Amino acid sequence: MKKKSVPLIQSVPCERCHGTHVLIEAVPRQRYARGRLCECFPTPCHACSGTGFILRRDRFHREMAASCPECVGRLQRVELYNEARVPRRYLHSRLKVTDQDKHNAQIFSLLDAIHRNLPDYLRTHQEQGSTTDDLKGMVLMGPPGTGKTHLLSGFVYQCTITHGISCVFQGFTELLSELRQGYSDGKSDMEIIEPHLLADVLIIDDMGKGRNTPWELGILDTLITERYNRDRIVMVTTNYTEAEENTLRERVLSKDRSEEEQFLSDTIRKRVGERIYSRLREMCYFEELNGPDRRQVD
Ligand SMILES: [Zn+2]
Ligand SMILES: [Zn+2]
Repeated sequence: MKKKSVPLIQSVPCERCHGTHVLIEAVPRQRYARGRLCECFPTPCHACSGTGFILRRDRFHREMAASCPECVGRLQRVELYNEARVPRRYLHSRLKVTDQDKHNAQIFSLLDAIHRNLPDYLRTHQEQGSTTDDLKGMVLMGPPGTGKTHLLSGFVYQCTITHGISCVFQGFTELLSELRQGYSDGKSDMEIIEPHLLADVLIIDDMGKGRNTPWELGILDTLITERYNRDRIVMVTTNYTEAEENTLRERVLSKDRSEEEQFLSDTIRKRVGERIYSRLREMCYFEELNGPDRRQVD
């Protein structure tokens, strides 16, 4: 006799958060994307009945109380995402398979591998003080609009929400203005860049942008050297590449104000100087992202 097929009762994932129970939104007048728990998250929490604790067994099979990963853990991850300060226009960036295309396939899988290996890398680092594991960050180079910031914002989402890893996402010129503002508020450089040194992952967006004064390069040098000394991961986006032929071409005013147009085609090496460049070379994969200007396509 033919068996009657019984429809499986499947809970349909919430349309707003796609079953993650986390929503990332733009809040009016806020520069950064903001995460929070979705309304679909059950109250009280199903896992801990709202106590915030669950009982689990340690490796000696003893029962012990641990904070609930469903509610407390998820809130902590949301907090990590918010502290990372992802610009609000990248609130939808997730590093999802659908972000992958023929132009970024190699970079995409490398980014994917880095965030998947990060929890182990950080655990060894914490337990042994340092690590010989060879986990590198990435310098993502290429013309404006190719989606570099989108990919690294998605990387931040994966690190914080999926793995519970702390990140700081920092636009380089925004950091410079914050430091300048700090001087008038009586804050030291160190006070402002401390989170950048302590976070598990530092993302510097648009490195090399700016007037490139000795002070600006000094700030960049402090960030890179300190992270280097602490074996900490650095991720970078930049419009400058390693070859003059395809690096960012900038129009400059000639000193004598002659009508003749002058262009600068600084390579990343020239732009940040030998010392920062060679540190980054040791710490990061150098990858070039090309392809259509996605900002025009959208
Ligand atoms: Zn939801
Ligand atoms: Zn709970």
